[in-house]
Amino acid sequence: MTRTSTDILISGGGVAGLSAAAAFGTAGFNVICVDPSPPVTSDTAEGADLRSTAFLHPSIPVLQDAGLWARLEPHAAALQVMRIIDAGGAVAEPRLTRDFNAAELSDLPFGWNLPNWLLRREMVARLAELPNVDFRPGVATSRLMTRESEALVALSDGAQIRARMVIGADGRDSPVRQALGIPVRTLRYGQKALAFAVSHPVPHDNVSTEIHRSGGPFTLVPLPDRESKPRSAVVWMDTGPAVARLQALAVADFEAEMNARSCHILGPLTLDSRLTVWPIIAQIASRMAGERCALMAEAAHVVPPIGAQGLNMSLADLTVLLDLARAAPDDIGSARMLDAYHRKRHWEVQARVSGIDALNRASMMGAQPLRDLRATALNALYSAAPVRRVLMKAGLGLR
Ligand SMILES: Cc1cc2nc3c(=O)[nH]c(=O)nc-3n(C[C@H](O)[C@H](O)[C@H](O)COP(=O)(O)OP(=O)(O)OC[C@H]3O[C@@H](n4cnc5c(N)ncnc54)[C@H](O)[C@@H]3O)c2cc1C
Repeated sequence: MTRTSTDILISGGGVAGLSAAAAFGTAGFNVICVDPSPPVTSDTAEGADLRSTAFLHPSIPVLQDAGLWARLEPHAAALQVMRIIDAGGAVAEPRLTRDFNAAELSDLPFGWNLPNWLLRREMVARLAELPNVDFRPGVATSRLMTRESEALVALSDGAQIRARMVIGADGRDSPVRQALGIPVRTLRYGQKALAFAVSHPVPHDNVSTEIHRSGGPFTLVPLPDRESKPRSAVVWMDTGPAVARLQALAVADFEAEMNARSCHILGPLTLDSRLTVWPIIAQIASRMAGERCALMAEAAHVVPPIGAQGLNMSLADLTVLLDLARAAPDDIGSARMLDAYHRKRHWEVQARVSGIDALNRASMMGAQPLRDLRATALNALYSAAPVRRVLMKAGLGLR
């Protein structure tokens, strides 16, 4: 059996793995990227990922360097204001509304929102432009063996790859992480998220809104208009049984419940896609790397979808890995490089997982005194301008 040699084998072609393939390919490295599930690149196709991703502005340079941002920007909706509404009183209506405006920090918006199915479409198209990237959809990583000088990967189609570095971007149950024997700590909330798109009569004005009551946030994130109608992506988190009940409702009944939960802030919402359901956990790997292998994205860390952190943390992983690789291209995959990667990322990932865990638990609170306390805390944090700016910078991943 002949072995193909490459600089980098990326296990996983989700949004994180595809971004990494484009970034390392554009930087001149030879890349093979494998994924058993071919990417679904239209919103109406079976299995389409109907979530959206809000790219915060510190994530944009790595997308620009990867030749991706020029393709993505025309489809993006800017996020200028993050609005937090507490609707945790006795009746489901806003009792406290606080706007975090990006203008307080700079002349840039907080970020830009894009549907995940469209990200896959544009990322796959970018990979096709790169002769040094070999994307193999329909093929899985089956076995991984490492030694000091290289990693040997067996693929599900029988191919054997010899790589200087493997990037495990193969999701929360990462086969690469398991092959390396790296343990994870998992926090479970008994919670799920419904992700779908809506249209509405009131323009969103580039405001992303998180409405807190109990069970988890109801979040509306701006999308570009379609057929002159304003649209938003919705993530609605609640307990598993509550989500199962909502999912089983007829469309008219679902819309009635969704409108009550949205507190009618954008007028009557109309369901504009199928519903997709995502289990919610937080998880962190005890190390970001093993011999000849780096873990990134959900293979290394999973957070509940609050404050648009998940993929932005993954692009921060990618930025650090790429900087290290560019600084010493002959050294990719060495113990020195991978230790540096672990040290630069792990503490920050730990801090973010803990912070988002706390925010999610606060959002889930059901007892009235605790919900009152949450509203008081939000008001106090917001009222002091320096604290407010520190919170906004922390959310963006800026110091
Ligand atoms: C409802 C919801 C909303 C979100 N919103 C945001 C947001 O606004 N902003 C943000 O930054 N983040 C957000 N996130 C988080 C973000 O979506 C995730 O971080 C991101 O999609 C995860 O990407 P990933 O590529 O690591 O994992 P995945 O998408 O799970 O990709 C892993 C890939 O690995 C493949 N794989 C599995 N086994 C193998 C194998 N043996 N060999 C090769 N490949 C394999 C799988 O087929 C899969 O394609 C959200 C998450 C949820 C649940």
